Amino acid sequence: MTLPRIPHVVAGARRDGQSDRLSPVFDPSTGAIASQVPLANAADIEMVIADAAAAAPAWGQRSAQDRSRVMFRWRELCMAHADELARLISSEHGKVVSDARGELQRGLEVVEFATGIPHLMKGEFSDGVSRGIDMYSMRQPLGVTAAITPFNFPAMVPLWMLGPALACGNAVVLKPSERDPSTAVRLAELFVEAGGPPGVFNVLQGDADAVNALCTDPRVQAVSFVGSTPIARHVYETSARHGKRVQAMGGAKNHLVVLPDADLDMTVESLMGAAYGSAGERCMAISVAVVVGDATADALVARLADRVRALRVGDPRVDGNDMGPLVTAVHRDRIAGYIGAGVSEGASLVVDGRTHPATAESGFFLGGTLFDHVTANMSIYREEIFGPVLCVVRVQSAEEALTLCNEHQYGNGVAIFTRNGGAAREFAHRVQCGMVGINVPIPVPLAFYSFGGWKESAFGDHNQHGMDGVRFYTRTKTVTTRWPSGGADAASFSMPVLR
Ligand code: NAD
Repeated sequence: MTLPRIPHVVAGARRDGQSDRLSPVFDPSTGAIASQVPLANAADIEMVIADAAAAAPAWGQRSAQDRSRVMFRWRELCMAHADELARLISSEHGKVVSDARGELQRGLEVVEFATGIPHLMKGEFSDGVSRGIDMYSMRQPLGVTAAITPFNFPAMVPLWMLGPALACGNAVVLKPSERDPSTAVRLAELFVEAGGPPGVFNVLQGDADAVNALCTDPRVQAVSFVGSTPIARHVYETSARHGKRVQAMGGAKNHLVVLPDADLDMTVESLMGAAYGSAGERCMAISVAVVVGDATADALVARLADRVRALRVGDPRVDGNDMGPLVTAVHRDRIAGYIGAGVSEGASLVVDGRTHPATAESGFFLGGTLFDHVTANMSIYREEIFGPVLCVVRVQSAEEALTLCNEHQYGNGVAIFTRNGGAAREFAHRVQCGMVGINVPIPVPLAFYSFGGWKESAFGDHNQHGMDGVRFYTRTKTVTTRWPSGGADAASFSMPVLR
């Protein structure tokens, strides 16, 4: 049987490209190869970038209002196709369909924000900065930009970048993850159906070769990346060395601190969703619960253990399942390896996901796992596992909990659960993390704020979306004007100063 081949999208049309390198795309629920994606070669990369470079100027010269109308229609079309898109995401990623709908919704909120671009791109004007002289600034698009995205949000993360980049008047080459590449194709097709000019949003399927070309090609002005920390650092350094504007988001190890006065019901419910939703394959998933005091920890672990054992793990397309499979067998085995390492390092394995009944099926399943008595020197604490594994660390004070968060290499999201407003305020102020939740486990900023971590979780000066997105995808030009009014000032050989 010939497997379907997922295309690139160039000039508004599907293209196979010339590369004979192909990568399998799995149905994680069955373990079967569902399709193949081409891994672009040099000729394919040239075709995609050249087409985007040809399309960029005319799009950038359209009025911001005109572009906004295209964005609005695109958002409407994506909403009309939400069910199809959510099922497509689920079929290649393995997350439950309701979760896929949620990520699409959150991504489209960035497009909604971007429809306000005529207002968001406005410059500044100063009347009469000196005698007869006015000064104004404007924001202009960059040209061709690259969006390089991870497997875990095949719609939301591309939309974080596409929303502001396109609305600001840039062309975008999207290089999606080769593990779930189909959603990008449909998003690009819907953009053209919405009236977006062909070539303004192209999709380049590929691996490291495509990424490295985007980071070095002189026609690409800016690179936005989301993925693991080692690749984020590589993309940041390579793109910067080639004179590009770059933002590169990396991995995470998000802590949720539980103070003894926390509402335990609320904490348990929040931890379950935040640790095991999307099988833990979220950069904002909670993977560490830092619990202050043994009495609180004993009560919390007992409640969590029952809930983790009861997780419904199975086909993500079946209503009622909490968790689907992991994205690939390799990723599932890597997580299982971490569970083994946690046991050898001396953590208490309270619930072992490797023995869940779903693991007997052919898909890439693993049950939820819960560790207690995890310490800061263990690999399951230090490293990002990116799976359904929650580590409980016991500490004796809120100060000790804060120190743990601050000393961790990652600083993406963090949460504190407490009824004490003063303690929460102090924590939010002093914690070294980009996004903080107070009795909110996954504090993902809405589209009109910006998303970004600190420390090893992000490289570059700009966050994703919000006004940072507009700043990232435009450059400022400042114009100083004077009009002849008869008679000229004598030549001045000193630095001009205001008069
Ligand atoms: P990944 O780093 O393996 O892949 C991300 C992108 O980089 C993909 O498009 C991939 O094709 C490309 N890539 C992979 N290896 C490369 C190489 N050697 N050279 C150049 N490019 C390469 O990440 P992933 O496994 O797809 O996604 C999961 C990771 O993304 C986790 O670490 C997660 O925390 C992180 N993530 C972070 C955020 C955030 O906003 N901070 C959001 C989502 C995911």
